[in-house]
Amino acid sequence: MSYFRPAIDAMTGYVPGEQPKSGIKVIKLNTNENPYLPSPKAIAALASIDPDTLRRYPDPFAYEFCLAVSESLGIPKDWVIVGNGSDDVLNILIRAVAEGSDRQVVYPMPTYVLYRTLAAMQPAQVAEIPYGDDFRLPIAELVAANGAVTFIASPNSPSGHIVPLADLRELARQVTGILAIDEAYVDFAEYSALPLVQEFENVIVLRTLSKGYSLAGLRLGFGIANPKLLSGLFKVKDSYNIDTVAIAVGTAAMRDQDYKNACAAKVKTSRTKLTSDLKNLDYTVLESHGNFVLTTPPKGNAEEIYLKLKESGILVRYFNQAGLSDKLRITVGTDEQNQALIDFLSTL
Ligand SMILES: *Cc1c(COP(=O)(O)O)cnc(C)c1O
Repeated sequence: MSYFRPAIDAMTGYVPGEQPKSGIKVIKLNTNENPYLPSPKAIAALASIDPDTLRRYPDPFAYEFCLAVSESLGIPKDWVIVGNGSDDVLNILIRAVAEGSDRQVVYPMPTYVLYRTLAAMQPAQVAEIPYGDDFRLPIAELVAANGAVTFIASPNSPSGHIVPLADLRELARQVTGILAIDEAYVDFAEYSALPLVQEFENVIVLRTLSKGYSLAGLRLGFGIANPKLLSGLFKVKDSYNIDTVAIAVGTAAMRDQDYKNACAAKVKTSRTKLTSDLKNLDYTVLESHGNFVLTTPPKGNAEEIYLKLKESGILVRYFNQAGLSDKLRITVGTDEQNQALIDFLSTL
């Protein structure tokens, strides 16, 4: 006897990267957080929150934040849905469109594991289409899987590769369901797929303030799509999914694109250095367009190295799954943090 639905009994819960207790000193390179503080303007907005506004429910549509997105990214203000992190938008999307085997969830592998977890809860069947070694988008196979929604993370985690715009456009043209392009790492990349939302009625682009804007603790993300696509999502969205504090702080951060871009530029410079330092230690490193690198140690003993690093106070991400068990995903930290990592690896 179980208290739960069969789908819940059958599924595995999502396992997030470790979050050490505050006060414990670690070099945290395991969950792709930004090593720099949020924008000073966001910090000022936090300090100036009027406690009286906390007495009231927040704006269900976070209009002020939508306006900041609209003006910063050059899209109409009614083309935005705001979520409690982009994970919330992913959840809303799957709940709105996916169900069983007729309305399945499709994505290439390896990618963000949460797509699988959210589909399992629904439950909706998933079709996981492997990327080849070259990480070319398997367009024909993805289309043939006929998803109610197809997820493409670009730049992708954990590989760090970015999907060419022409491939995303071709996929958007051919799929019958929704194409969700997860741009959690776009701030560290050279281009965005955002223009596709204007070209295709079935495309939604997902963004987050967790990575580029250094606000993972705030929980704020958003989706950009035409109002017709958003209308179904708004029915599923929790009325008060974004709180008053997140709206105020997130709005200030969104309006400070210069600060975000300056931090991203520092991260990209550090990414180049970390990549070459790892290569000098004979690690294989995939070219990354995110704030992390996926690397294979020369002896393939990734799990052992992950554990040794952890013992010495450096957290990186190890995925014990097919195709990834000989690799480590390392978040790009400050140059000092990256150097500490390299110094330790060179002693092994
Ligand atoms: C970090 C990440 C997210 C989640 O971002 P939140 O806004 O913090 O929920 C979504 N997709 C991918 C691929 C990510 O790496």
